Amino acid sequence: MIAVVQGSPPVGFLFNPHFTIRNGFIHSFLVNFRQNKIWNLKSSIENPRSFRGGLFIIGAMTKMADFTERRLRMVRQVREYGVKNTAILAAMETVPRHFFMPRGTESDAAVYGDHPTQIGFGQTISQPFIVAYMTELLKLEPSDTVLEIGTGSGYQTAILACICRDVYSVEVVPQLADHAANVLEKLNYSNVYIKTGDGYAGWSEEGPYQGIIVTCAPESVPRQLIDQLADGGRIVVPVGTADQRLLLLHKTNGKIIETSTLPVRFVPMIHKD
Ligand code: SAH
Repeated sequence: MIAVVQGSPPVGFLFNPHFTIRNGFIHSFLVNFRQNKIWNLKSSIENPRSFRGGLFIIGAMTKMADFTERRLRMVRQVREYGVKNTAILAAMETVPRHFFMPRGTESDAAVYGDHPTQIGFGQTISQPFIVAYMTELLKLEPSDTVLEIGTGSGYQTAILACICRDVYSVEVVPQLADHAANVLEKLNYSNVYIKTGDGYAGWSEEGPYQGIIVTCAPESVPRQLIDQLADGGRIVVPVGTADQRLLLLHKTNGKIIETSTLPVRFVPMIHKD
C-alpha cells in the first residue's frame, strides 16, 4: 500500500518527541520507516492510492498514540490514588479500554476519564481506580482462577485475564455478554470464558475460585458465591441499595472474615426470574 523509494516522511509532526519518546512501538516503527526509505512523498503523490493509504496509516497511528497517552495518564492517576500492584498497573497501561465500549455509547476518549462510563442497557463500566482497587483487594497469583459476576463491557475481565490463569465471567444481559466475548476474542484473550446467565448462581462447574469479583450490587452476599470460593480465596463485592459498601470476604479454614472497605455506587445486581 505504501510507496517504496527514498526520502523521509512528508509529515514532520510525526517526529514530534511527544509521541516518539513516549511510545516505543511507534518510535521504532517510524524510525524503521525512515531508515528503510519506504516512504516518499513524490511517489506517493504520483500514486494517489498509496498516498491515501499512507494518510490512513498516519491517522490510525496518531489516534493510537493519543490513546496510549491517555492510558498512561489514567494509570498515573490510579497509582496516585494508592494502587501499588505492578501487574495490575502494567495491565491497565496496555489493555485498550476504548475497544470495550459498545458502538454508539460514549466517545472513545471519554472512557479514559476518572469516572464510570455508560455502556448501554443502563449499565456502566467502572471508574479506572475502582477496577484497579477491586482487583488489588483479591491478591491474585498468576496461577489463580477467577470468577467475575457482571461482565459488562469486558474491560475488567481483560485486566483479570492479564494477571491470572483463567477468568470465568457471567453476564445477565445477552447483548453485553456477546459484545464482550467478541472484543476479547479479537484481542486474542484465550484464557477468558463468558456465559450469559444469572450471577447469583455463580458458575459452579468451574469452581472453586481463588478470587471472585462482583461488579454489580446485591443486597447481601450471594450464598452460592461463598460456596464456590476456594479456601484461602477472596470475594470483593459491593453490597447494598442506596447506601453501598465494598466488602472484602476472605475464606480461611472454612470461615469467612469480612472487611468493609470503601463506600461505592454500583448498578444493582438484577434478579433474573
Ligand atoms: N465489570 C464491568 C462492569 C459492568 S456493570 C466492566 O468492566 O464493564 C455491571 C454488570 O453487571 C452489568 O453489565 C449488568 O448487566 C451485570 N449484572 C447485573 N445483574 C447481574 C446478574 N444477576 N448476573 C450477572 N450479571 C449481572
